[in-house]
Amino acid sequence: MKKLEQLYEGKAKKVFATDDPNVVIVDYKDDATAFNGEKKGTIVGKGVINNKMTNHLMGKLEAAGIPTHYIQQLSDRETAVKKVSIVPLEVIVRNISAGSFAKRYGVEEGIPFAEPTFELSYKNDGLGDPLLNDSHALALGLATKEEIALIRDYALRINALLKGFMKEIGIDLVDFKLEFGKTADGTIVLADEISPDTCRLWDEKTHEKLDKDRFRRDLGGAEEAYEEVMRRLMGEQ
Ligand code: UDP
Repeated sequence: MKKLEQLYEGKAKKVFATDDPNVVIVDYKDDATAFNGEKKGTIVGKGVINNKMTNHLMGKLEAAGIPTHYIQQLSDRETAVKKVSIVPLEVIVRNISAGSFAKRYGVEEGIPFAEPTFELSYKNDGLGDPLLNDSHALALGLATKEEIALIRDYALRINALLKGFMKEIGIDLVDFKLEFGKTADGTIVLADEISPDTCRLWDEKTHEKLDKDRFRRDLGGAEEAYEEVMRRLMGEQ
């Protein structure tokens, strides 16, 4: 497979065309941003970790029956994935209160929920990714009713699976963001990444944050936290 011209550069990844029109290559960067791009920095080694961790987790999700965009890892930072058009929804599932949920509803962080929550935001940086409900997404033509139902079903199944994978390595899955894409034939698949950039991961005993909040909140030790999750998940750094 030949890597051709760059199609897109996002905040954490670049996307390249290939000689196969149905395949693109994602290339993970060490750049870190927060607060809708207002805070910028670098987490050294993050690109390699997020690439490997995403592929590892997507492989396990595929094995459990969740369709994903994953095809094949090509190098430390590069992976071949199915070319999709991203559904412009940020899909967030939460098990424990934190972040914008705690702020919006005036509750403390760390309260476990009886049932996971499912929420959607409009993926639109110019508007600051505003929260929306199903009817808003339909009104804006962002997805069909059937697609939203499928995305919700996948997101909750993914939550149950990821929660289990994390529990095995002594980590509580607090919340996470997913993105879905549509392949050329209209199939909805899990896309983007699953990493400490997109998940809140707390050590189950110490409640130490092992995710991007270390960068967002200037806690220090972001590199070590990403490496720790990687080591526990895959037994390597
Ligand atoms: N998240 C993300 N990208 C975003 C917004 C949120 O990956 O643009 C993830 C975030 O890492 C956390 C979850 O989604 O695991 C819920 O984030 P929240 O809504 O609490 O927003 P935040 O506090 O990060 O602004």
